[in-house]
Amino acid sequence: MKYLSTRGGMDPQSFSDILLEGLAPDGGLALPESLPAVSADTLEAWRKLNYPELATEILSLFIDDIPRSDLERLTHAAYTAQNFGSEQIVPLKPLNNGMTLLGLSEGPTLAFKDMAMQFLGQVFEYVLDKRQATLNILGATSGDTGSAAEYALKGKRGVSVFMLSPYGRMSDFQRAQMYSLHDPNIHNIALKGVFDECQDIVKALAGDLAFKAKYNLGAVNSINWARIAAQVVYYFWGWLRATSGPGQQVSFTVPSGNFGNILAGHIARQMGLPVRRLVLATNENNVLEEFFRTGIYRPRPAAETHETSSPSMDISRASNFERFVYELLGADAAKVRACWEELAATGQFDLSDRQPEFESRYGFVAGVSTHADRLQTIRDIQLEAGVLIDPHTADGVKVAAGYVEPGIPMLVLETALPAKFSETIEAATGKPAPVPAHLQGLASLDQRVEVFDCKVELVRDYIIQHAPVQAG
Ligand SMILES: *Cc1c(COP(=O)(O)O)cnc(C)c1O
Repeated sequence: MKYLSTRGGMDPQSFSDILLEGLAPDGGLALPESLPAVSADTLEAWRKLNYPELATEILSLFIDDIPRSDLERLTHAAYTAQNFGSEQIVPLKPLNNGMTLLGLSEGPTLAFKDMAMQFLGQVFEYVLDKRQATLNILGATSGDTGSAAEYALKGKRGVSVFMLSPYGRMSDFQRAQMYSLHDPNIHNIALKGVFDECQDIVKALAGDLAFKAKYNLGAVNSINWARIAAQVVYYFWGWLRATSGPGQQVSFTVPSGNFGNILAGHIARQMGLPVRRLVLATNENNVLEEFFRTGIYRPRPAAETHETSSPSMDISRASNFERFVYELLGADAAKVRACWEELAATGQFDLSDRQPEFESRYGFVAGVSTHADRLQTIRDIQLEAGVLIDPHTADGVKVAAGYVEPGIPMLVLETALPAKFSETIEAATGKPAPVPAHLQGLASLDQRVEVFDCKVELVRDYIIQHAPVQAG
């Protein structure tokens, strides 16, 4: 299995090579040359597998440069009952309205990002060990990605993490999660600015190629292909648990921001998983909903991005979206380049002539949920089903309600647990969200964080002083 770039300018590469890179050298995103197909018989044979076994089967279709026995060891180390609270790893939680939650947030940081990051932590350490290399992960987070990356990489050989976060702008819980880590390979840097400014500093430093090479800078942002591949696994898992025989269809609803999570669902469907609909839910930042409704992609500047009560979806430029457009345009890299040139020149591109296919060929539909919808949905689901859901999952449940069909299970991806966003839970229900027993002492742990003005030189100096430089 070799990987190509959506912009057509990268020689075919193996999985381990693209693992350690961010963007492809031509500015595109890596994708497999062709997608593996999974037959109905294979699917039936997978029913008896547990989660790490299923992950081994699916990931080995995408990773052919790691021996299967090693891959098996990595998936079993990533998906443990200790990390995810039960042997199921991803439990299904029925609501009383034709929907079932796909429980993706049982990992160490209570959001679905742990599903991919825990595997990434294992496979990074493995590949770096083999290559006798070191990697310094530089990232920016508005909360969930940073903590998931740090919990996955703390204490791992060969990797250090430098994570920029906007000072004073994360929830108390998110802050406590990240800043209470004291592992020597984890560096938290809070910048007196907003998330976009943190992201700009990451781009500036990673764009300085000499600096990037000298300090072996790497990334774990949502365009990393290994994260997408690891996310494909739980669509198969959800289908296997929600059906009893071949060919039965299931729909999925996905609270979306960077288009990473739902892209994994699209890939599972293209591989042959019987998925009826992929329902994309956005909050008030509805760039993606607008695209699936009209065919026009019109990302918005930071100033037009609303700060909402489902903050992990406050994204107006969906970094994984290009992978879907590549496929839509028949894997024609020249057409993809033309779209992004038009975007740079005019601020949008128009694929409205293809809009009817989004649903008929790919099963995509989309909807918007607002602050009022979120609060109402949290209240309704607690009353009807006795289940407390987080604000992002509530956006999913709200939009999914329009697409529930008799006889077709509707799986809504639970992208975080309520404890992470307690303020909004309290606004909806009058009571703060319960904190899981093992995290109750979190708020009182010592916190360690460097606070800097939002200046690229300060971050650069800190990395120079603290990054292990590779020998030779
Ligand atoms: C990251 C995140 C999302 C958005 O997922 P994408 O893959 O970026 O579309 C939704 N909900 C929560 C809680 C998240 O952390």
